[in-house]
Amino acid sequence: MTAAITPDTPVQFLPSVGPGRSKALAAAGIETAGDLLWFFPFRYEDRRHPTRIADLGRNVDSPVVLRGRVVSAGAKVSPVKRMRLFEALIEDGTGAVRLVWFNQPYLSDQIERGDNLAIYGTPRLGRNGLQIESPDWEKFDGAEEDAGAIVAIYSKITNVPPKALRQIVAAALQAIPSIDDPLPAELRKRLGVIGLAESLEAIHRPQELTADFARFRSPAHLRIIMQEFFVFQLALRVRRATEEIKEKTRRIAIGDELRAEVKQVLPFRLTGAQKRVLKEIADDLRATKPMYRLLQGDVGSGKTIVALIAAMIMIRNGHQVALLAPTEILAEQHFQRIRQLLDHSVVTAKATGSMAAGERRTLIAGLRDGYIQLVVGTHALLEDRIVFKSLGLAIVDEQHRFGVEQRQKLFAKGDTPDILVMTATPIPRSLALAMYGDLELSIIDELPPGRQEIKTAVRASSQLDRAWKFVDEQIDDGAQVYAVYPIIEESEKLNLKPLTAGFDAIEKRFPNRRIGMLHGRMSATEKEDVMQRFKAGQLDILVSTTVIEVGIDVPNASIMLIMDAHRFGLSQLHQLRGRVGRGTRASYCILVSDDEKDRLAVFARTRDGFEVAERDLEIRGPGEFLGTRQSGVARFRFGNILRDHDLMDKARDVAIEVLDKEGPVRAEELARKILGVRLPAATRD
Ligand code: ADP
Ligand code: MG
Repeated sequence: MTAAITPDTPVQFLPSVGPGRSKALAAAGIETAGDLLWFFPFRYEDRRHPTRIADLGRNVDSPVVLRGRVVSAGAKVSPVKRMRLFEALIEDGTGAVRLVWFNQPYLSDQIERGDNLAIYGTPRLGRNGLQIESPDWEKFDGAEEDAGAIVAIYSKITNVPPKALRQIVAAALQAIPSIDDPLPAELRKRLGVIGLAESLEAIHRPQELTADFARFRSPAHLRIIMQEFFVFQLALRVRRATEEIKEKTRRIAIGDELRAEVKQVLPFRLTGAQKRVLKEIADDLRATKPMYRLLQGDVGSGKTIVALIAAMIMIRNGHQVALLAPTEILAEQHFQRIRQLLDHSVVTAKATGSMAAGERRTLIAGLRDGYIQLVVGTHALLEDRIVFKSLGLAIVDEQHRFGVEQRQKLFAKGDTPDILVMTATPIPRSLALAMYGDLELSIIDELPPGRQEIKTAVRASSQLDRAWKFVDEQIDDGAQVYAVYPIIEESEKLNLKPLTAGFDAIEKRFPNRRIGMLHGRMSATEKEDVMQRFKAGQLDILVSTTVIEVGIDVPNASIMLIMDAHRFGLSQLHQLRGRVGRGTRASYCILVSDDEKDRLAVFARTRDGFEVAERDLEIRGPGEFLGTRQSGVARFRFGNILRDHDLMDKARDVAIEVLDKEGPVRAEELARKILGVRLPAATRD
């Protein structure tokens, strides 16, 4: 009678889908049976073994599945919060338990005495004894969904009741045998995954809920994870292979004279890690393929000097170098440092948004004619007017927000310049791969010798007074202090009130101390002036926003006081903490907060930026970790680039192999085929 169901069958030809449901499904991006196959459950309920209500007491605070009959149900108004409640009492022959929903008055029309309900929720011990608040619920009438089933729970689709949705998906599963697995057997073997049909079948209709399955790590899930990682990597590789990246025409030599000069400039011996990454960079500079390398190293690990040596190599070979910093303060600081180290052996200039017209003209001419050898600046450097005679190397400092677009802009400014991106946010390798995919990674995993330990403590605001006393003693001893307020510099409407109020309070408290204030809305000269005075030891306390988060290097500053510390991400706290512990003084980081003590305590215990970043990523997810501006980060269905970094590495290796063997055209075909299978991704809400 009806034609067999295939992945291409439109949903309206599935049983129990009429025009109304078909429209509702389309609104959720589901148009064919194939789309339904990729519409994954986000949770399962094992209704074969519901918890007995009599046993609930032992399961408080973790979710359970119950089945029972409603013995009473009705709306109420909560006397306490004046909320509208709907309460139902269900019993299962072993006992009864109260279910409570808030502000869902329509439930009166849906749940009544005598109904059989399957319940998923978390029992809690409240004032009125044990109850389950706002559980998921579904009616059952015994026969149709026999008591013993593992039930897949899908995201809600408006106007399609859950049970109907499951039936529709079940019908779509008939299309599984006609699925064409986009990963050939050999590739499946390389990736270590099972077939697609088997995987989809298990995901929608699991036979057993093993622990791996519940964690989305069963072989069925791994298949999906690997497929997505693999196609992601393959697409990146293909793009890289077909992207018009010219070979460099410059030839870089590193001779004895240059080596001697570098040695002379260096104020200290490089650490082993610095030497290692320097060699990686130098090899790249000499290669014909342009360098695209991420130099990752914890705060204070000494990335700048490595970059500077790379700059000298380039300059002595007759090419120019641009150093991009995210803020004017940092650009200024780099400029000063470089001046100090290189003296006048290199012609160095500064480029910021606040340059005067005359300065700008001189800069533009100097870069165009090649007179300026090294320029340090903010994103002002990316402006179209800035043209180089021969840009050989672009160094991007502290910028984990540096994207493909900016890279293209830089490329356009030279003969495919080498690019070195430095980051102190220790992006886990997996995330770096997911973000950039095609860059090489150099890691400085060693701090210069003699670094001070930084004692980190969490203090409640009621203890602030004691903290200030401590600060006062330390200042007596010659220390300098940062006091940071949680004003995020990037926000559009910068509300400086907490900062200025803090500044006033600190001035009042320390009438005899020299106190400065720093924030992004000050003019460049004002900022420079304050920083200079702090650096020169003419200020005891610097009251600041997060403008000091990156790069600032004042070795004598040894106390970092962070107000309302819970309002910062852990990585940001780590950056801030990295401003101290740079000199010979014992250093302290004091987190003042009345909130999220646990998270802050975790931070206080570790100094390892890598660990901090991973924790941060776990807590906040990659999107937020990278900031909202980073939009290009891929999303995966079950894959978690942090947890599954080993899988991502493997996917990358296999993608490289495939590209090598098949060439970019066939590799791209394969990527398209794989992506085609899951066309409109219906994501969970
Ligand atoms: P970051 O990696 O955070 O950018 P910097 O390059 O600013 O670190 O270096 C931090 C501090 O450590 C600077 O004061 C720098 O002069 C110093 N430094 C860097 N490398 C070494 C080294 N090998 N030995 C001693 N001090 C070093
Ligand atoms: Mg730095």
